[in-house]
Amino acid sequence: MAGDELFRAAYASAAIGMAVLDADARIHESNSALEALLGYDSGALEKVALASITHPDDATRDGRVWERLQRGVSHLQAQRRLVHVSGDVVWARVTFSRVDGGPMRVLAQVEDVTETRRAQALLEHRALHDTLTGLPNRALVVDRLDVVLEAPEPQVACLFLDLDDFTVVNDSLGHEAGDRLLTEAARRLRATVRSQDTVARLGGDEFVIVAPGLTSLAEAEGLADDVRAALRVPFSVGGHEVEPTACVGVALGGPDMSAQALIRDADVAMSHAKRAGRDHAQSFSEGMRHHAQMRLSVESELRAALREGQLEVHFQPIVELATGEVRAYEALVRWRHPHRGLLLPHEFLDICEEANLVVPLGEVVLRDACQFIAERPAFPGRVLVNISTQHIGGAGLVDTVREALAEAGVAPSRLALEITESGMLISTSSTRTELEQLTDMGVDLLLDDFGTGYSALSSVLRSPVTGIKLAREFTLRLGDGSTGDRISTAISSLVASLGMVGIIEGVETETQRRTAIAHGWQLAQGFLFDHPRPASDIPDAPASAPLASPSPTPQRVASVPLR
Ligand code: C2E
Ligand code: MG
Ligand code: MG
Repeated sequence: MAGDELFRAAYASAAIGMAVLDADARIHESNSALEALLGYDSGALEKVALASITHPDDATRDGRVWERLQRGVSHLQAQRRLVHVSGDVVWARVTFSRVDGGPMRVLAQVEDVTETRRAQALLEHRALHDTLTGLPNRALVVDRLDVVLEAPEPQVACLFLDLDDFTVVNDSLGHEAGDRLLTEAARRLRATVRSQDTVARLGGDEFVIVAPGLTSLAEAEGLADDVRAALRVPFSVGGHEVEPTACVGVALGGPDMSAQALIRDADVAMSHAKRAGRDHAQSFSEGMRHHAQMRLSVESELRAALREGQLEVHFQPIVELATGEVRAYEALVRWRHPHRGLLLPHEFLDICEEANLVVPLGEVVLRDACQFIAERPAFPGRVLVNISTQHIGGAGLVDTVREALAEAGVAPSRLALEITESGMLISTSSTRTELEQLTDMGVDLLLDDFGTGYSALSSVLRSPVTGIKLAREFTLRLGDGSTGDRISTAISSLVASLGMVGIIEGVETETQRRTAIAHGWQLAQGFLFDHPRPASDIPDAPASAPLASPSPTPQRVASVPLR
């Protein structure tokens, strides 16, 4: 075969698509690989303009390529979309080479890169979407929000959603059920918003909705209500009917605001909504930002405080009302803050709970309380330690108590735990088991601040509780000749008839002391007797308070198990 013929044969049978184009960018001739690639019959591409087999969106780029070739550029490579006869898009990498000599001729070599492009697009999609729900992820929603916020007067609302009790579904019905719930929530959210809105999943059970064009909080709150209503419809998962609800935080975009900042505002508003309970919406306010910053800094300081031993325990006596003799102590935590002085529990306990620090805090207090007992061999009474509701059922409370007792070499009969009504109301079996294990060990359980919660008498009777502390609210009403007196009398006789320990809290005056005695109370705690003090201020042998009062009957003293 002569050289020319050999070249022709190679050109015709090449696996890669080839065409020779004339000066007007029309196909002069093409090989069978190109015809097959675009679905044309043999010879059908002849005289066809390059523009008519190119996707309209890429045709203008061809114009520029052609100009450069005409100006003498010898090779050019470009990716473009060609159109198959069926109308499908074929992604192609096209290499244009000018053929030397004679009238202008350009050789186009066309490689099909559709598969590569598809894989690339899939990767891009994956990088920007959540695989479970198919919704945009954080990166994509931040990107879209940033674009909207670039406007001088941006008009956009951001809703931050967090499903209520998602972990309950996930933990009790399994991850598959959890996934179905998330997918269903995603579907409902998408069905509720307008087409121009973006629904994204940030991870876990958190979603964000970006709604461009909303200019007032009222409009945004309307959307939040719609979304909550859509979620609230019952849904069956894993054989159980669940009613998915969410708390929603609402924030509006403003000039010079970043997407991250707007999402953070909506998130802060959402955590305020959570505090109000399930299925709530809350709009962001400036005060919340301040609160959130304060909270964050206190939270990190509190972690450091736990590490560096800034928490200390003070002890307040519980005395025999009649004699003033100390029968027990309540351990009360304090924070010796390096700059703010001695902080009381109400200044940090909430944050401690929100930051999941109740377990380490409980460990510190239990350890110090046991140490206090160990260092006072002449004192026979119990020390009462407050236990946070979050610490009960699942956080290893029984082990923590055992370890603290063992470490100090103290018997369980020297310890009592105070729990609140909410702690007792959580009637899961793990909570009950844990409380029963403690009483079986010999640790007393007292119901703190009785009367301020909602516990029904029946639930108190069914619980392993061995004593009740009457909340200070009732002590304040002693002597009112009305409900205050009646409640105090009723509870004191209830406690006695059940053989429980009863302690009246917050006794501050001599009159209150006398009234409490008249109502049948035997044990009390309050500033009248002493304030909480550091352990170093409390000697070993209990100091008898200088209270002259009639001695109680011996039988009654014997019936008080707090020794
Ligand atoms: P609480 O368990 O009811 O403790 C009694 C609170 O009343 C203490 O406040 C005590 O100082 C105060 N108090 C005692 N007598 C009187 C009185 O006569 N008048 C008045 N006005 N107040 C009196 P404190 O130490 O500020 O503790 C407040 C609450 O913080 C406690 O209430 C308890 O619920 C919680 N708490 C304290 N220590 C701990 C702890 O170690 N762990 C946990 N989880 N909670 C704790
Ligand atoms: Mg207490
Ligand atoms: Mg109390």
